[in-house]
Amino acid sequence: MPTPKALNGLKVVSFHALDPEGAKVLGPINRELSAPSAVGGLSAAQLDPESAAVQILNRALTEAQTAGASFRKLGTESVPLTGTRIVKFRQELQKVPVYGSYVSVELDGQNQCLALNAILGNPKNVEPIAKVSPAQAVKSAAKAPGLAVDAAEDAPRLHYYFDAADKAWKLVYIVEDAPVTAKKPSPHLTPAAADFVVDANTGKLIATLPRTSTLEATGMDDLGVARTVTIARRGNKRVLRDDTLRIATYDFGFRDPETQFKRLPGRLITSPFSSSAISAHANASVVSKFLRDTLLRNNIDNEGGVIVSSIQALVREGNPNAATKQWFNAFWNGDQMVYGQVLNEGKLRSLASSLDVVAHEMFHGVTDGTSRLEYVTESGALNESYSDIFGTVIANFANPDIAAWNWEIGERLAASNVPFRDMSDPGRFGQPMLYRQFRRLPASQQPSDANDWGFVHANSGIHNFAAFHVITARDGAGRFLFTAAECAAMFYIALTQHLSRTSQFGDSRRAVLLAAQTLFRAEAPAAREARLAGIEAGFAAAGIP
Ligand SMILES: [Zn+2]
Repeated sequence: MPTPKALNGLKVVSFHALDPEGAKVLGPINRELSAPSAVGGLSAAQLDPESAAVQILNRALTEAQTAGASFRKLGTESVPLTGTRIVKFRQELQKVPVYGSYVSVELDGQNQCLALNAILGNPKNVEPIAKVSPAQAVKSAAKAPGLAVDAAEDAPRLHYYFDAADKAWKLVYIVEDAPVTAKKPSPHLTPAAADFVVDANTGKLIATLPRTSTLEATGMDDLGVARTVTIARRGNKRVLRDDTLRIATYDFGFRDPETQFKRLPGRLITSPFSSSAISAHANASVVSKFLRDTLLRNNIDNEGGVIVSSIQALVREGNPNAATKQWFNAFWNGDQMVYGQVLNEGKLRSLASSLDVVAHEMFHGVTDGTSRLEYVTESGALNESYSDIFGTVIANFANPDIAAWNWEIGERLAASNVPFRDMSDPGRFGQPMLYRQFRRLPASQQPSDANDWGFVHANSGIHNFAAFHVITARDGAGRFLFTAAECAAMFYIALTQHLSRTSQFGDSRRAVLLAAQTLFRAEAPAAREARLAGIEAGFAAAGIP
């Protein structure tokens, strides 16, 4: 059925053989073409699909609908889902393609037409001869505001294009897939490449159309595991950018993120990708997917902002291992991730190789944008603990058996493979475990860098121990009370909805209970009570009031 012209200037002519209107058009054509010698002595079933589709097209589309158009074959595709074949065409006028046009003819095994779907343009009264040269078109594209444009691989091609702003068809050049970069730093992710539409009569740039990429690359990460990551193309190079999850990974070239922070994030990484680069990009995508799929959060900032990571950072001042390029640290700087590296088995291993460390640091970004827990004393320890909780949950999330979870953090970084912390046994790395062991500063001392802001990395052990008991809480029959996703939801809602800048451990206990009561409100009271009792018992195990 013909439909009115849409905003893209194209009209649709669409028939299905099972639709009464469509049957009126396609029925007679199918009957005619199935005759034994319908086309040059052959029936449609004896033709190849493309020839059969051309015969159908010529009969189904009237002269008024196509207005002097011709159709260039794009190819034939078998669709296993439907057991049919689809022959595809592009509309052309005097060999110039009509931008956005598309015709598909769906055939059954006998080359009978099931459906015909034609999206057609009618570029009337358009001067068919270009007045500007392809080279001038490239120059116009290079004037796109805010973008530095590199040369595209292919020469620009003429098209008929519907300019929506002018509501008119125009003859244009399309400079296709030209690599671009932002001229100024921008919070938005600049596409790696773009198409530029340039008026072939006036040379004016009509439209800039970003390209997205779903290219993938597989490489070994720093732990020797093969990882597949989404990357993008820039000219003939491959770059570590995932435009779907919005992740970009950079190399800081062993610069100092403290004294040279203005040079962050560094250089967008191009192929061949190092194992550290693969680690950072792959682990960022695991965190992004967890945020999106499990917490329904749109990246760290919940606005789909780009997750930027820089590897190969090296703080020099006060770093005894600077000569060997080791800097055993990673941090969220308020805008992006920065990773150092350590020697392990004689090779530099990025801190980005450790998924729990990556998720820990990125969760500082989530906390930064939500409860904003002050990074001193008890609220600071809570801030640290929430990062450890999500670092551990994310690193173990692929394993549904909570009994088999690994509660250590950073266990494959130091040459000795000794972790920094263990949520199930904080005392193992000198952390307090019970609230009454909370390390307080003497009244004469203010929290500062020198005392780890009031021992935030030590005192976090107490809240970690509580969280470990909550996550592993079991019912009377010995079954876990919570799934991994339920634990993630409870702690996430607590952190982002029920805590403030100065919240204490006891506030976290109340926050998790509030979250659980809402999350499990549809359950039978006995089941819900059992869950709440599991939370209470978990916090009680660490002596948190
Ligand atoms: Zn931290």
